[in-house]
Amino acid sequence: MESLSRPLFVLLGPPGSGKGTQGKRLSQEFGLPIMSVGGMVRVFCDTHTDRMLCEEIRARYEKGIPQPDEVVITIVRDYLTKHDTSRGLIADAFPLTLLEAEALTDMVAEYALDAPLVFFLSIDIDTATERISHRKVCSECSRTFTPSEAAYSAGICDACGGALIIRPDDHPDIVRHRFEEYHTRLEEVREYYEKRGGLHMLDATAPSEQVYVTILEICAQKGYYPQ
Ligand SMILES: [Zn+2]
Repeated sequence: MESLSRPLFVLLGPPGSGKGTQGKRLSQEFGLPIMSVGGMVRVFCDTHTDRMLCEEIRARYEKGIPQPDEVVITIVRDYLTKHDTSRGLIADAFPLTLLEAEALTDMVAEYALDAPLVFFLSIDIDTATERISHRKVCSECSRTFTPSEAAYSAGICDACGGALIIRPDDHPDIVRHRFEEYHTRLEEVREYYEKRGGLHMLDATAPSEQVYVTILEICAQKGYYPQ
C-alpha cells in the first residue's frame, strides 16, 4: 500500500555517539535524504556568494566552535529548498538549540513533514573520545567510517568515492571541548522534545547494531518501515 507518511527522523547526541553511522543506515534502508550540518557547511560555502560569511563559518567549523543559530537555520533552509523532502527526511545533529528546535517545528509545518521522531543517543565523554580517535570522515560527503568498515582501511568513501580524512575537529582536545559544548546545548533540546513528545533516549554505548535495532522498533511502532 502506498504510504502518504513523510517521516522526519532526528538524530541527536554528542560527538562520538554514533549519529553518523545510524543516520547512514537509516538513509540507505528507508531511502531518505540525510541532512547533516557538517556536510551542508561545505556545500553551502561552495555555492554561497557571501565570502565573508563563509570564511567565518569555515573557521568556526574547523575549530569545533558551534555555528550561531541564525547561520544554522539559514543553511538548513537553503538545504530544504534544494532537496526533495516529499518522502521524508533525516536530520543529523539538528536542532542543537531551543531556537533551532522551534525553527524546525516551523519547517515541519511548511514542508508537511510528520512530527519528528527524535533519537537521542547518550554516551559518556570517555567512551566518546575513544571512539572518535578511531574514525575517519569523507572529505566530500562527510559520512563517517569506523575501523570495522572496509572503506576505512581503503581510505575511499564507498558512497561517493571521496578521500577519507581525520577531521580537524576530531583531535582529542577539541573533542572534549565539543562534547561539553554539545552536552550543555542539547539539554534544552531534550527538554523541548520531552514536553512535545517524540523523544526516544537510547544508550549509545551499546553496540551500533543493537542501537539500530532499537531505532527500527521505534520506527515500526509509528508505522515506518525500511523500503
Ligand atoms: Zn563520501
